[in-house]
Amino acid sequence: AKTQGRNAYEFFAPSLSEGVMDRLKMESALRGAAARNELRVHYQPQVRLRDGSLLGVEALVRWEHPTLGLVSPGHFIPLAEEMGVIGEISAWVLHEACRQMRAWRDEAREVGCVAVNLSVQQLERDMLVGMVRDCLEEFDLPAQCLELEVTESLIMRAPEKAQLVLQKLKVMGVKISVDDFGTGYSSLSYLKRLPLDRLKIDRSFVQDIGLDANGEAIIRAIIGLGRSLGLETLAEGVEQQDQVRFLLKEGCDLAQGFLFSRPVPPNQLVFHWDCPPIT
Ligand code: C2E
Ligand code: CA
Ligand code: CA
Ligand code: CA
Repeated sequence: AKTQGRNAYEFFAPSLSEGVMDRLKMESALRGAAARNELRVHYQPQVRLRDGSLLGVEALVRWEHPTLGLVSPGHFIPLAEEMGVIGEISAWVLHEACRQMRAWRDEAREVGCVAVNLSVQQLERDMLVGMVRDCLEEFDLPAQCLELEVTESLIMRAPEKAQLVLQKLKVMGVKISVDDFGTGYSSLSYLKRLPLDRLKIDRSFVQDIGLDANGEAIIRAIIGLGRSLGLETLAEGVEQQDQVRFLLKEGCDLAQGFLFSRPVPPNQLVFHWDCPPIT
């Protein structure tokens, strides 16, 4: 009886109902955010470690809320997924990233490719392949300009569908990366079946460099796995030069992180770095 009373109290606790209100407000604001032109895409460089040149950029969405300011995707992407409006947002990001890529190419900017994060619903529904084809056509882009990032958990949610869709995209020439690699608690068997180009080593392992020998061992293993499978490896969340030195020594191909640049609006993009970066 005591437990029940406590639960009942918690259910009506002001903090919770305030939370519910926030959520409701957030939900109604998020609905149509794309249509009201409140979404922005920031771009974070992906750098070749050998020579510091720019391979490409990752497109990361932001929501410019009228009163909250710039809301980070960690706050609204999960909500958008639950609400079922992630499709609208994802379609907008893909289109905008392709539009920006066209603009860079017209300015003769050497941004090799733009990586877009896929959502579960994009992979589960049948529109993705057509949407990608339409965007590439509209902006007259070679498919090699576009990279799609999928997480292991996204793959495992619908493995057969993922294989089918990614295979079609691969045939078109689109590049495919596994995002947050090593954090998905999944078996590695999908690596044999999926047409992949790149493994993105999760930031949590990169943070271990110089601090935790186990984390370093995992990074070495991922780089070795990538090499044997013919996949490039990209280290995420690189913040320090010591991390770059370790990654170079171990043969990692690419890096992305605040050391090189935070995600920035397209006009603030930097195109080359000294590698390893000089202080
Ligand atoms: P992600 O795909 O793993 O993206 C990398 C995140 O790490 C980005 O956060 C980026 O700003 C952050 N980051 C990059 N370098 C560093 C670093 O050196 N240190 C630290 N501490 N963080 C770094 P962001 O932009 O807040 O995005 C968070 C997540 O939201 C993304 O994680 C991705 O899962 C999701 N997301 C972002 N844009 C989209 C999108 O257009 N569609 C979908 N479906 N998801 C998106
Ligand atoms: Ca990503
Ligand atoms: Ca990631
Ligand atoms: Ca992540």
